[in-house]
Amino acid sequence: MTAHIIDGKALAEELRQSFKARVATLTAKGQKPGLAVILVGADPASQVYVKNKVNACEAIGMKSEKIVYDAAVDQQTVLGKIAELNADPTIHGILVQLPLPRHFDESRVLEAIAAQKDVDGFHAENVGALAQGKPRFIPCTPYGVMKMFAQGGVDLNGKEAVVIGRSNIVGKPMALLLINAGATVTVCNSKTKDLGAHTRRADILVAAVGKPKFVTADMIKPGAVVIDVGINRLTDGPDAGKLCGDVDFAACLETAGQITPVPGGVGPMTITMLLANTIEAAEREASARSSSRAGEGPGERGPG
Ligand code: NAP
Repeated sequence: MTAHIIDGKALAEELRQSFKARVATLTAKGQKPGLAVILVGADPASQVYVKNKVNACEAIGMKSEKIVYDAAVDQQTVLGKIAELNADPTIHGILVQLPLPRHFDESRVLEAIAAQKDVDGFHAENVGALAQGKPRFIPCTPYGVMKMFAQGGVDLNGKEAVVIGRSNIVGKPMALLLINAGATVTVCNSKTKDLGAHTRRADILVAAVGKPKFVTADMIKPGAVVIDVGINRLTDGPDAGKLCGDVDFAACLETAGQITPVPGGVGPMTITMLLANTIEAAEREASARSSSRAGEGPGERGPG
């Protein structure tokens, strides 16, 4: 039987439409959600990612601010800008586009972002909260994958889940989310012995490797839900220049129960969840402000 294809593009569009009303409500309360994106250098791929993020904000009525620095900028200047954005009440989310040039201490820069505005979910405080099962911000790519499971009616409780990849951006937070959802989780990496023995047990398989067509049909349990996070540009053959995932999609289509395509799968969900995180941050700020205003009211002060 051919697998059901999980359409990330359609789900992303549906979610973005639903965000418009939340943005309008916040804007009416004087809390228009605002995202600041810092780009250091002129890496073409990073420039495209930043442009897409800014355009996505504007399309749903959010404020966006793009700050671009020359690759030679010193770290202190960027840290100063982050401090300014941390204090700016019109900015609810701050994102530093990675990778940074070599002279930067990446973790120092990420830790400088106020945890309440860390919409990428990379700050140690937010990673810790996720590990404790009380997330504030969920990293965008695995957050998008969880939305795809929810939309596809995939019950994770008690399932065998295998994640290939252990990066801080995808693999690790994905594994934490699956653990929190009640799955039995195995996380594989480049040192894993007999990878196929693990993946063939998986009811849920998430590939975040960065190698084109790495997951082949013989590595999949029949009926498994296969999520392809990989985004690779093919360099050889008739498809040179085209995007390709970590999963051999055509071959796995007959074995998997559900599968995500590349492009049009996880990719569109990542920016969508960045918007979701920024809106959530603005909603938290709006509710904190209204409860602090209520606290200042005469009723709170009591008689006299
Ligand atoms: P990464 O930091 O390079 O991590 C890749 C992981 O794959 C590492 O943990 C590595 O293991 C593991 N790996 C490499 N070869 C392996 C093998 N032979 N067997 C098992 N595991 C192996 O990459 P990433 O940032 O997680 O990204 C992974 C892919 O997702 C890339 O294609 C990236 O472009 C894509 N991506 C897509 C989105 C999206 O929006 N769809 C977002 C982020 C990333 P070691 O740790 O042992 O080296």
